[in-house]
Amino acid sequence: MPVLVTPRKIEDTTVREFSMLIDGEWVGGAEGRTLERVAPGHGVVVSRYQQAGAADAERAIRAARKAFDEGAWPRMTASERSGILLKAATLIEERLDEISYLDAVEAGKPITQVKGEIGGAADIWRYAAALARDLHGESYNTLGDGTLGVVLREAIGVVSIITPWNFPFLIVSQKLPFALAAGCTCVVKPSELTSGSTLVLGEILIEAGVPAGVVNILVGTGPEVGAPMTTHPAVDMISFTGSTGVGKLTMANAAQTLKKVSLELGGKNPQIVFPDANIDEFVDAAVFGAWFNAGECCNAGSRLILHKSIADDVVARVAQLSSAVKVGDPLDPTTQVGAIITPQHLEKISGYVSGAAAGGANIAYGGSAIDFGMGQFMAPTILDKVTPDMAVAREEVFGPVLSVLTFETTEEAIRIANAIDYGLSAGVWSRDFDTCLTVGRKVRAGTVWMNTFMDGAAELPFGGYRQSGLGRELGRHAVEDYTETKTLNMHIGARTGWWMPR
Ligand code: NAD
Repeated sequence: MPVLVTPRKIEDTTVREFSMLIDGEWVGGAEGRTLERVAPGHGVVVSRYQQAGAADAERAIRAARKAFDEGAWPRMTASERSGILLKAATLIEERLDEISYLDAVEAGKPITQVKGEIGGAADIWRYAAALARDLHGESYNTLGDGTLGVVLREAIGVVSIITPWNFPFLIVSQKLPFALAAGCTCVVKPSELTSGSTLVLGEILIEAGVPAGVVNILVGTGPEVGAPMTTHPAVDMISFTGSTGVGKLTMANAAQTLKKVSLELGGKNPQIVFPDANIDEFVDAAVFGAWFNAGECCNAGSRLILHKSIADDVVARVAQLSSAVKVGDPLDPTTQVGAIITPQHLEKISGYVSGAAAGGANIAYGGSAIDFGMGQFMAPTILDKVTPDMAVAREEVFGPVLSVLTFETTEEAIRIANAIDYGLSAGVWSRDFDTCLTVGRKVRAGTVWMNTFMDGAAELPFGGYRQSGLGRELGRHAVEDYTETKTLNMHIGARTGWWMPR
């Protein structure tokens, strides 16, 4: 078993009340409904949100459309927009403890981990502020003397931003600052389970100087609020992060009016380990990659693909190190693995474990839920003797469950790594450069880490191959994703070469 950190009761039982942000006003939903969030690590209500319905989605989209068509935001200088994004970054840092607390209690994430995420998010806002001033097109004189072809980059328009619950503040910060940097206006719908920190972001943006209607934030369910945000004719683009199933639905909805879509979806990411790897380093990365964010992480290294000759030793060492991992109270600063998002999700994770065991996998470590008498928690679980055809080897469990598979040849390792529908990320471990490069090039994934795992920076693009998504976030092209190009083809003086003879 890991080290258990029994959750302490939340002392301050005041439920935080949140309104929605529409057209610069903090408002309730048209139908007067509210949604409550029970903290997954503590089992008590911590937040109450005003709940949006279809009429509120309509209002928010109309406000964003008006702000784009008539408002100041798309028309101000890049320097002015950049200055506001920089101010937002500073305000995020000033409110870091408050935002971290909200993500920790609403999502059950370890508080120390979340503080790192929010610091990283502020850094992304600064990066977007820098890119705002570098948005530029191209010019050509390929049509000859006296001509000029200019390729302009214009803001695409109104963007619907839909985010999941596992990194509430970080993921909205991978989208919104870049859309704003381009001059777009936005309607944002965080997960209805973890909307608090995104609403605080709304307060920050207003204080930073973002004009009314430019950022609208709705709290509501996917079918009621998310769906109209993907079908409405006044929306030009959808930036979605979530499950592959809802991503496909989003793309089908977007097709009705041919909106641009950016999709960041699920993953089932392999870590391939060769016998010459630095096993000490790898064992650490395996534990981090699998148990970070309780495995509720699109990038989780949830499949170990180990060379047969080292598999038993590596599994034993990963299990041994896992027994030093601290699981429990999200608000304890020493906790490394927090709670599972909902009781239903814990059931789903447990079902994958029992299904794999019934199908012939061996539970090498963990395997069960942890009962602290409040909230819901799962022990880090290692399954070995997993075969590539098992559900636990192919499907995203989205919990602290590690599946171990083995290989004998490099080709076999690559084949197993690619034998799934996803292609988000992968890790390769070997001291041999050729081996790393060969596998790195042949694994079909948007990011391949070599002798490291899950580190990143705002400069490095992130996104998936195949059913892990469409498009990339972050990186120097991140603002361009929220633009259209317009070609201006100009002629100076009398044009020669008309079609009809003169
Ligand atoms: P989800 O797909 O259930 O929900 C994501 C968002 O979509 C939520 O805001 C939800 O309310 C909304 N939604 C649900 N139904 C909708 C509909 N019909 N129309 C429009 N919106 C709708 O995902 P989740 O459970 O919140 O998050 C977990 C998933 O997110 C995992 O699959 C994970 O891999 C993925 N994820 C991917 C990345 C990445 O960058 N690739 C990052 C984090 C999470």
